[in-house]
Amino acid sequence: MRILIANDDGIYSPGLHALGEVARDFADVRLVAPDVEQSSMGHAITHSRPLTVRHTPIAGFEAYRVNGTPADCVALGANGWDEVDLVLSGINLGPNLGNGMWHSGTLAAAKQAALLGLRGIAFSTPTGSGEPDFIRLRPWVQRVLELLIPETDLCLINVNLPPEPKGLCWTRQSVRHYDGRVVPGRDPMGREHFWITVAPLEDVEEGTDRWAVEQGLVSITPLRLDLTDLEALERAQAERPV
Ligand code: MN
Repeated sequence: MRILIANDDGIYSPGLHALGEVARDFADVRLVAPDVEQSSMGHAITHSRPLTVRHTPIAGFEAYRVNGTPADCVALGANGWDEVDLVLSGINLGPNLGNGMWHSGTLAAAKQAALLGLRGIAFSTPTGSGEPDFIRLRPWVQRVLELLIPETDLCLINVNLPPEPKGLCWTRQSVRHYDGRVVPGRDPMGREHFWITVAPLEDVEEGTDRWAVEQGLVSITPLRLDLTDLEALERAQAERPV
């Protein structure tokens, strides 16, 4: 079995190495990740400049760095390694819950795998005052892989690990609005700049990814590529025939 691992935090992220260390108990592993951080790049792909893939010495791993996005890494990684069975992404330093999925480069790498007809699983964990405790998370990542690797009909899965997991939970995406405030500031040279905030507005709903992580459970959300709102489509076809 061959597992390709990408991320959006970059080839030197401790989360990438932690995921690789668990995955190599299951399969041959190869790391292909961005040369610099690409968080919140979503599913961007590079089409207007050349991409390079460079072998990168990382102890114990066959690893490559790419001057592109997370989706580029999966495209190039799957192209350069025959018969990849599974693509993993992460472990992201920061959660990818609810609406965060739209911006997530971590999830985009798993999504790129699904677009190529492969399976993709994205892993993320919150960061607090320090780095995540990957030693503590390791057996939980292992449990998730033991659960998901045989589930070959699940092609795209988003996994979020709380800092101190107590169990696993199947969840749905938490859809909430966020404040989207634009906060102005000044840099040391007096120039104006801006930060965009993404604090959720509504309360968390039971059964969602965000709820599970707040309960200390590992959230496992099966996703699909088809974004069509089927109820809205049926209503539109019935009420406004064209
Ligand atoms: Mn990231």
